[in-house]
Order: sequence, then C-alpha cells, then structure tokens
Amino acid sequence: MHEQNILALADDLRARRYSSVELTRHYLERIARLNPDLNAFITVAAEPALAAAGRADAALAAGTAGPLTGIPIAHKDIFCTQGLRTSCGSRMLDNFIAPYDATVVERLAAAGAVVLGKTNMDEFAMGSSNETSWYGPVKNPWDHTRVPGGSSGGSAAAVAARLCAAATGTDTGGSIRQPAALCGITGIKPTYGRCSRWGMIAFASSLDQAGPMARSAADAALLLQAMAGFDPRDSTSIDTPVPDYTAGLDQDLAGLRIGLPKEYFGDGLDARTAASIDGAIREYERLGARVSEISLPNSPLSVPVYYVVAPAECSSNLARFDGVRYGHRCQAPTDLEDLYQRSRAEGFGPEVQRRIMIGTYVLSAGYYDAYYLKAQKIRHLIAEDFKRAFTQVDVIMGPSSPTTAFPIGAKRDDPVAMYLSDIYTIATNLAGLPGMSIPVAPVDGLPVGLQIIGNYFEEGRLLNVAHRLQQETHWHCAVPTGCA
Ligand code: GLN
Repeated sequence: MHEQNILALADDLRARRYSSVELTRHYLERIARLNPDLNAFITVAAEPALAAAGRADAALAAGTAGPLTGIPIAHKDIFCTQGLRTSCGSRMLDNFIAPYDATVVERLAAAGAVVLGKTNMDEFAMGSSNETSWYGPVKNPWDHTRVPGGSSGGSAAAVAARLCAAATGTDTGGSIRQPAALCGITGIKPTYGRCSRWGMIAFASSLDQAGPMARSAADAALLLQAMAGFDPRDSTSIDTPVPDYTAGLDQDLAGLRIGLPKEYFGDGLDARTAASIDGAIREYERLGARVSEISLPNSPLSVPVYYVVAPAECSSNLARFDGVRYGHRCQAPTDLEDLYQRSRAEGFGPEVQRRIMIGTYVLSAGYYDAYYLKAQKIRHLIAEDFKRAFTQVDVIMGPSSPTTAFPIGAKRDDPVAMYLSDIYTIATNLAGLPGMSIPVAPVDGLPVGLQIIGNYFEEGRLLNVAHRLQQETHWHCAVPTGCA
C-alpha cells in the first residue's frame, strides 16, 4: 500500500480493495518500525488517526469521498492541531496542546485526510539540517549519517521513507524546497498569501508560507488544492480564486521559456550537482522548452538581507513566549524578571537565542536605519530582479541546494556555513514568489533537487512543468534502501 501514490490509493479505497483503517494501520506499523531510527515524527497520533480513518471509511461507503478521503498524511509540528501536542521543535512548547486547528490542518481534515502525527523540525523552523530540534536530529533515509535538510526535515524524511503518503511543510527561506531536495521528494512553496498562516506558529511573518511535500507533482497538486485559498483570519491571505491544479498538469511544454540565472550556477555549486541539474534541463529542451541565460544581479545579497529581516521578525514574534501564557515556565522564579529570563533561557535553544539577539539588535533605535531599513530596500531590489526576469521567461530553473545532504554535525558549529545552504531558495521568499523542488539524477546515491521558480500565483504552471518531467523520467520514483 505504501508504494502507491495518492491517486492510486484513492482508487483502491473507493474500490474497497482495503479500508482507510487498514491503510492507516499499515502506515502506523511502518512508523513504529522505522521511526525510532529516523526520528522523523515528534508525536504519533495513532488513536485519533484510526478514528479519522473510520470516519473516512464511512464517507467512502456513503459515496461522499473526495480525492484525499482516507489518505494518511503528517503535519509539520509548526501547525496547531487541536488536542494534540504542537511543539514547534522547541522545549518551549514541549507541553503545549493546541486549543484549535490551523486553517491548513482544518482544510485537509475537511478534505478527509487522516493525520498520522506531527513531524520533527528545526526549532521554530530555524535551521537547514533539523539539528536545532529539541527532539534531536532527523536522519536522512538515503544515508543515516546525513541530515535530511531543514527546517521541514521530519516531513521530508517521512515522505521519502514512505511513513506517510504526503506531508505539510513551511518555507521561510527554503524549508520546503531544501529538505525536499536532500530527501528526493517533491515540494512546493506557494506564493506568499496563497495558503493561510492562521494557526501556523510564526517565525518571520512576511516570509512564512505553508506548502505540500509529496512524492510527485500530481500528489502535491491534490494537497495544495485543499490547502490553498482565502482565509479572513489571516490578514495577509489573498482573495484570489484557486485554479484546478490537477486539471492543468498535462499541458504541453512546447515553447516554454526557461531562464537560468547565471548567479545560480557559479562558484559554490558542487560540480556534480550542476551536471545533474543540466541533465534535467536537457530533458526540458527535449520536451520543447527554450532555455536562455538570465541575471538576478541582487541575488548574492539575499542571504545577508534575509539574516536581518528574518531575525528582526522572529525577535518580535517570539516575544510572546514569556513563561506566562504559553509553554515552558522555570521552577520557583524569584520575581517577574527572573521568570522571563530563566523561562526563555531554558525554553529556547542556542540558534533561536542567537536570532532573537540579532533581531533585537537590528531593530534597536541606533541601528534600525543601518540594518533593517537597508535590508528592506535591498529586498525590494531583489523582487525587482525577478519582475524583470519574468518579462523574458516563464519559469526560472536552477539547483535547490548547492550540495547533496551533508553529514550530521558537519555544519553544526558554523552558523554561516549553515545559512549558505539556502543561497538559492531565500530570494523567492524575499520576493514572495512560488518555488518548487523536484528530484533529478542523484549523485553518489544521494538525491539532487531541481528548483523551479514561477511568477506570482503560478503554482499551477510549476506543478505542470514538474509533472511533465515526472511523466518522462523516473527520478521521483526512487525509494531509499530499507524503505521499499
Ligand atoms: N534555513 C533558513 C533559516 O534557518 C530557512 C528556514 C525556513 O525556511 N524556515 O532561517
């Protein structure tokens, strides 16, 4: 059952080849067997999952089932799930049971999906390797000595290891695309405002966006269909109709204009990763696409700009974790100051503390103009680069990550080296554009991700472009040893 994609599972469920309860049990058994080593799940919700599967079976019997009815998925532990621990990978929220569902969670539940549990992640989504999680690192299913990427590393590893049919992730600077690339799965970060952020614990509010992580573009299309759409509870949600993503998957690519930013193929890109990306681009040429070089001149500034803007926003968002209203509280505080200080010092890990300090500094009266305001101006120039590029091309392609998965521990003590993992993904978040990662030819048995960037609200085109390649090639079908 776990070999099947979502469409095939939905067919089997409708034909009663097995029930959703049987399918859910099968996945729970896989999780029980493989997760103790992989550490992809923080919380497994066996009983609620089986209850939801029972309801899905009733809907299937009543003939009211949709494409996701009875399909077992997992949520990144950044999404509030009513009655279920929502830790955000942090000791701060280790004891937090969310009193409500995030909009994305609510919509997938309304579509009939079954939630197997909550996946591991970097603490408050800050990281590129899943090593900042309070719950310990996740192992990459392709090589257990390596990282799965981050911050949605638990979701990526769970999908790659076939511990769920698909999962949700969030992407502030690359956290869907980079782990999707490192684990050999398909992930899409939609346009900012496409999926509601309500109930998604905020890291950097002007950059955060939810999206699906799946085995194929066709599966991702089914999830995004349920997740996307206007939500009056999120003031940045955009009220524009959601197209039928599945209906557009097969469109012909003849004449598609692909732009390759020269800044994405320079120094710092591993040569064999580059060769694998080239191979995929040649496939697109065979499918009728026309390739040209473009330039995104300000993109080298995206990492420094991001590491001003994201910490600034996180220092403000994380101020609410004060030991009073949510989460961890220190023992026997002597006064209010002591309560705040020790609760936050104990609840937050080193990377989160580092970002809060940077953010507080760049927002302080004396440095606001020099750092924060300047970063916002360059952010605008980065968005302008893309605007210009999209007058010349339909989609932009390049690598999702400069290298394949690195060994656990390799960059743990070097934050700047870690920050550079997102060199190709961050600019799209700063511009608010949609971006996707799909698996292409592996290097030494490790997955490589091709990144596809589109214009605002062109998720349908990205899914179409990804799907056409997945019909012609089998890179997305590979399964890690021991997970088949
Ligand atoms: N790796 C980046 C960071 O640490 C991006 C994380 C994300 O997209 N959530 O901030």
